[in-house]
Amino acid sequence: MALTKCPECQSEVSDQALICPKCGFPLEKETSPESDVNKIVEEKIQTIQLTGKKWKRMKLIFVPMFIFGPFLSLSSLFVFLFFGVELFIVGFLLGGILFFVGLIGTIIASFGAWWHYR
Ligand SMILES: [Zn+2]
Repeated sequence: MALTKCPECQSEVSDQALICPKCGFPLEKETSPESDVNKIVEEKIQTIQLTGKKWKRMKLIFVPMFIFGPFLSLSSLFVFLFFGVELFIVGFLLGGILFFVGLIGTIIASFGAWWHYR
């Protein structure tokens, strides 16, 4: 908490104080105006909320990918039984890629959300 000088009586008062505790002089205009501070805080909250939504949307895309990926890889084992090895390899690789992209995306989204909510 910083100290500021009262413009009326010159005594040192907290810059958080709205009025001088000694003479009662209103200090809000001398320190940073409260409305401006509120505006900055509001804008920051809005940015955080918007960023939060962005990370959530990112998770919404990547989490199903990394859940669905292993399923695709597993189901390609059945494809192998009926359709041969080529489709199995394609399915297995696609499942693996989905899994890894989904996993990495989920980690990035989680980290991003944590970074902005901290
Ligand atoms: Zn004063």
